[in-house]
Amino acid sequence: MQIAKHTVVSMHYTLTGDDGQVIDSSQGADPLVFLQGAGNIIPGLDNALIGKSAGDSLDVRVVPEEGYGVIDEHLIQQVPREMFQGVDTIEPGMTFQAQDQSGYIQRVEVKSVDGDTVTIDANHPLAGQHLNFAVTIVEVRAATEEEIDHGHVHGPHGHHH
Ligand code: ZN
Repeated sequence: MQIAKHTVVSMHYTLTGDDGQVIDSSQGADPLVFLQGAGNIIPGLDNALIGKSAGDSLDVRVVPEEGYGVIDEHLIQQVPREMFQGVDTIEPGMTFQAQDQSGYIQRVEVKSVDGDTVTIDANHPLAGQHLNFAVTIVEVRAATEEEIDHGHVHGPHGHHH
């Protein structure tokens, strides 16, 4: 069976950055299982799998626009040190959960610290990056009507609720 919209795909993958560092991998764990064409995974990878079947291996290079987006400069902000109450040492690379005025929780990373000014970045950690996936398709099956309706996979390796 070939991968098409609303098929359930099981696959192993290794994600590598342009610097050659492995960012994420399913090797040694269960394969990733997802519903194709339902926004379960980034569009650049989702679309590249169409027409593939079990046993196929492929390399997919995803541009930022079809991955986790480009870097939004508006999400890089300078804030006063006192916003980090209860934190003794603030260093670049530290991450925090921050709540904005509408109550939305987002992950921010400290980019730099200059005296009482801290520069934080709320972009996705993989924003602006090209993503290199090495993929092996394990299984392809038709989705059930319920899975299509819910927009995600049910069953032993899928979404539970
Ligand atoms: Zn469901």
